[in-house]
Amino acid sequence: MSKIAFNPSRRQWLRGDTGAKRLPIRPPWSVAESAFIQDCSRCGDCIQHCPEAILIKGSGGFPEVDFQLGECTFCGDCVASCAAAVFNPVDTDPWSHKVAINERCITRQQVVCRSCIEQCEPEAITLTMQPGGVGIPVLSSDLCNGCGACIAVCPTQAISVQRAAYPDLNHPLPSHSTATRPQETDN
Ligand code: SF4
Ligand code: SF4
Ligand code: SF4
Repeated sequence: MSKIAFNPSRRQWLRGDTGAKRLPIRPPWSVAESAFIQDCSRCGDCIQHCPEAILIKGSGGFPEVDFQLGECTFCGDCVASCAAAVFNPVDTDPWSHKVAINERCITRQQVVCRSCIEQCEPEAITLTMQPGGVGIPVLSSDLCNGCGACIAVCPTQAISVQRAAYPDLNHPLPSHSTATRPQETDN
């Protein structure tokens, strides 16, 4: 597939996201956004090979995760299927995303719900009892691995992913360089 110039910043501007804070969630182990956009051929192989079917063709035809479709099991099939240099090694951390639970959680209206807690394998969400009320879910960011299993099951869409920058381990700095790599600026 021939490459077409694609500018994520312009896309965000067109969506009214002038703060550029809503970059898509790329598959796990993705390189930094600018390198991903540069080298992904948009062939769709990762989308076809995801057993959880959570990868979709997003804006510009690039793959992104839709957690409303399910969770990432970190199986690595997306990485294995890809012929482009857009993934870091699978023996590194897949990403640093965490989720956040907002005030739409129905336990704030004294309605009992444990859906997110029941889905969370690392037990990153625990129930904290309120005096005279129902328990509310409390997230441990240290335990959350960003798998997204809690997102689609929430009846009020109170859980969202907090996207973190992707590392760029496939594009190491030259050995003679004394510079330190800047953090992903387009996050
Ligand atoms: S690691 Fe597995 S489940 Fe997660 S996006 Fe890739 S193929 Fe899908
Ligand atoms: S994203 Fe995964 S690990 Fe994090 S709270 Fe949700 S279910 Fe638990
Ligand atoms: S699933 Fe949603 S509504 Fe239910 S406890 Fe978790 S955050 Fe609250």
